[in-house]
Amino acid sequence: MNSLVNRNLTKKTFLFIIIGLLMLMMGSLAVLANENKVTVLASTLNVRFGPGLSHEILTQVHEEDQLTILGEENQWYRVRSENNEIGWVASWLVENEEVSVDNRIVGRITANEVNVRQFSSTDSAVIGTVFLNDEFQILYSENDWIQILYNNRVAWIHENYIERTNDSLPEQQVEQDSDKKLIKAGMNPTNLRAEPNTDSAILATLTTLQEFTVLEEENEWYMIELEDGTQAYIASWLTEPAETVDQPVEPDTSSAYVATLAEATIVIDAGHGGKDPGAVAPDGSFVEADIALSTSLHLANRLQNAGANVILTRSDDTFLSLNDRVYYAHRAQADAFISIHYDAVEIPNSMSGTTTYYHSETEKELAESINHFLTQNGPLRNNGVRQADFFVLRNNGQKAVLLELGYMNHDFDISLINTDHYHQTIADAIFQGMSEYFRP
Ligand SMILES: [Zn+2]
Repeated sequence: MNSLVNRNLTKKTFLFIIIGLLMLMMGSLAVLANENKVTVLASTLNVRFGPGLSHEILTQVHEEDQLTILGEENQWYRVRSENNEIGWVASWLVENEEVSVDNRIVGRITANEVNVRQFSSTDSAVIGTVFLNDEFQILYSENDWIQILYNNRVAWIHENYIERTNDSLPEQQVEQDSDKKLIKAGMNPTNLRAEPNTDSAILATLTTLQEFTVLEEENEWYMIELEDGTQAYIASWLTEPAETVDQPVEPDTSSAYVATLAEATIVIDAGHGGKDPGAVAPDGSFVEADIALSTSLHLANRLQNAGANVILTRSDDTFLSLNDRVYYAHRAQADAFISIHYDAVEIPNSMSGTTTYYHSETEKELAESINHFLTQNGPLRNNGVRQADFFVLRNNGQKAVLLELGYMNHDFDISLINTDHYHQTIADAIFQGMSEYFRP
């Protein structure tokens, strides 16, 4: 009796293990075929310990390197690098390649209303809701969670509420392993031969350390391709894996400069707009809102060209409350908020030039850096850096600076500030100040 029960249990357990193993295998196949890869666009890109510039650099990756996306937060991707380090990169500095039509698995929502989450946990933020029969591309799976492409970003759904549909399964279930074996050889003189044995003809002798891609392996010999395109064999025991050649990768501080401003999220706030024109030129020919916008667009362009993630509070002549402007900075967790204004005083021609304002001490360095270049490169006189209580500075949790870039009722200032050339020049100066500030 006892032994019968035991035997039944053993059988059942065995069955469960087999089924479990099968499911695991199928699961990992799907993962292999659908890993969400991105390619590094910047020449050098910092991988940080957390999603933002304030986090320390873990390592650096380089142009064309492939990263696997594990999650997303505040427009930063949590990634796994080719050598299996896990950290965070600015999402705008990588190219997302996952939307490849011939390599997709579609998942269908199986419940009426399902939360879409930022990470694979019920503790993580809900970033949206999806509904019965909605379909999404499945990118990845991890534990009980399925990663989907949701509004062009990666997000997670619990596996209980999504099922894989069969119709759009990829042609090839598992991608060919594209990671060709790389070897190095030639530290000591090493013969390259015509056939995979020591009796065959010597085609050449390596005398310097070189790297090769292994085309085929045969009886402990590697077939490799030489620079001239011909093929040769090398004894595998005289080679080493090439990955060790470049280890360890030390952060390169000369190129980190490029990455640092490029990693920054900058909110540019063109003052006024819409029903609020700001200061008006004495002859009524132009208003502050317009020249602030023009200057802001030049600055945005400059920063974008340097790779930065730029957010404009307004990009046309619309009205925004001061609260909304600050909200942009908070929502983006901006590394800097730059508010662009032009000045006016009650008595015409009594004041001239540019002035830089900040509110808290932590913003002073950024203010000073920008002001330094306004003074050096701006055509107007400079009135220095001042502490002030403006709403967009005082209520801003992010580093914020407000710039007054000339007087709308000073004759000399007026002769310059309504020109595209001035906006360009001043945007360049602000850009240089910011580059200097974000230099590590
Ligand atoms: Zn203003």
